[in-house]
Amino acid sequence: MEREQIKNEAVRLFAVWYSRLIIVFLAFLPLSLILYIDYETSSKDAFVAHNFHVVAIAFATLFSAFLSYITWRCYVATGEVLLRWLVYGFLGFTIIYAPHGFLTHHGAENLWVFVLFGPASRLVLAFCFLIAMLKYGEMTEPGAIRNKGFIIAIIIFLIIALLVYQAAHLTQFDLNWWRLLTEYLSISLFLGAVLWMLVQNIRGYMPLQYGIAMIWFALSCLSFSIGTVWDHQWWLAHIIFASGFLLLSFGVVQAFLTTGSFKTIYSQTELFQQIIREKKKSERALIELKAVNQKLEELAATDSLTRVANRREFMKRSEEEMSRSSRNSTDLCLMVIDFDHFKEINDQYGHQAGDKVLKDFVKLAKEVMRPSDLLGRIGGEEFALLLPETNIRSAVKVAERLRQHIEEESIVIGSKRIKLTISIGVAEYQPKVDTVKKWLHRADEFLYQAKDKGRNRVVVEAFDADGRE
Ligand code: GH3
Ligand code: MG
Ligand code: MG
Repeated sequence: MEREQIKNEAVRLFAVWYSRLIIVFLAFLPLSLILYIDYETSSKDAFVAHNFHVVAIAFATLFSAFLSYITWRCYVATGEVLLRWLVYGFLGFTIIYAPHGFLTHHGAENLWVFVLFGPASRLVLAFCFLIAMLKYGEMTEPGAIRNKGFIIAIIIFLIIALLVYQAAHLTQFDLNWWRLLTEYLSISLFLGAVLWMLVQNIRGYMPLQYGIAMIWFALSCLSFSIGTVWDHQWWLAHIIFASGFLLLSFGVVQAFLTTGSFKTIYSQTELFQQIIREKKKSERALIELKAVNQKLEELAATDSLTRVANRREFMKRSEEEMSRSSRNSTDLCLMVIDFDHFKEINDQYGHQAGDKVLKDFVKLAKEVMRPSDLLGRIGGEEFALLLPETNIRSAVKVAERLRQHIEEESIVIGSKRIKLTISIGVAEYQPKVDTVKKWLHRADEFLYQAKDKGRNRVVVEAFDADGRE
């Protein structure tokens, strides 16, 4: 057993580390392409396609604009500060990356006019995404206006775009050096975000996608820094960047379609664990509910003073026994019991003493009853006893025994011993004519006869023809 456990734990650990390893592997996979293109091609192998570039960048810009909007909606819904910075990132990228596309044809005169917008947009993205991660878990103060700041951000990004355009004309400077510096800075910021996530142990489905996207962005910057405009490395850099962008956008759209929050998008594993937890909780609640229900049913069926069946329950059980008796042609009898001069007990000793008499009576009655007999309290000081599989002769014997038992015993009230008697009417169930009401009514009639005849006695319906009285 123990060896089995060790084996299972080892397999589990292996699976955990395997999944971690493939994530790292996946994150750094583009590196193999970068190295491959670097070894196998030179910057002379170029794919000059201005129009294609314009269209590709136009699509990237549209996607990014759409993502800005979706992320903004998520931010407004949840107030996660991280989402605000993601909006800034997407917005900044949209505004600064767009000229990289539509100025492509100007590259013929001055390459930098369109090229410089690429690294600039990535730097802005890297900066905002790092801040976003630093703000992980922070929420906007309640009452703060969530729409505030975005217009200012758009103005700032437009100014940056203008500055980049101006900078592209400063050809007296080594603009390539600035380009490389920008790419390296972006790499540091993207990796910084990942490092922060690792140090802060930020886990989850969205952070995982975010982390991988950040590494792909960093690798795309590396690829851009190695490549030169229009060569294969340069195109590869675009593809790696697009992959990161699509991965991140997938996460954002998932957030938008579900909780709207970056933090509370669960991984499949977490979801399953939560489902299992919730299932266990509801199972426990169901068991408790069943127990409470049973208790309630018991309470609804018993008389609170004497703990025997109440009138409703007694009637219900009588009906059940009646149909059983009809089905199996077995005898079934009923007796109705009423205390003699009970009012006097109440008058003399008080109502509480009367209550005690009723409780003590139940104890005494149980000494005479069989386990299959059912005692019920059907009125104030009236009880009924149902006797399954008992013919009228035996029923009378039981009634007589009970009457004598009560007569002989005395009930202790304080320092006094009270003598009490009961009158009983007994009736046999007659399947052809009886409903439970009629049957009870008949037994009641015999009880009244017992009272009339002087009390402390058992009266039974006239015995029928087969040898009985
Ligand atoms: P009888 O011999 O004719 O039956 O005389 P009785 O005084 O017993 O008359 P009856 O059965 O009509 O009276 C029932 C009395 O029982 C009325 C009421 O004061 C009393 N009683 C009914 N329910 C309770 C109860 O729950 N507790 C107490 N202490 N007394 C009750
Ligand atoms: Mg009475
Ligand atoms: Mg009575």
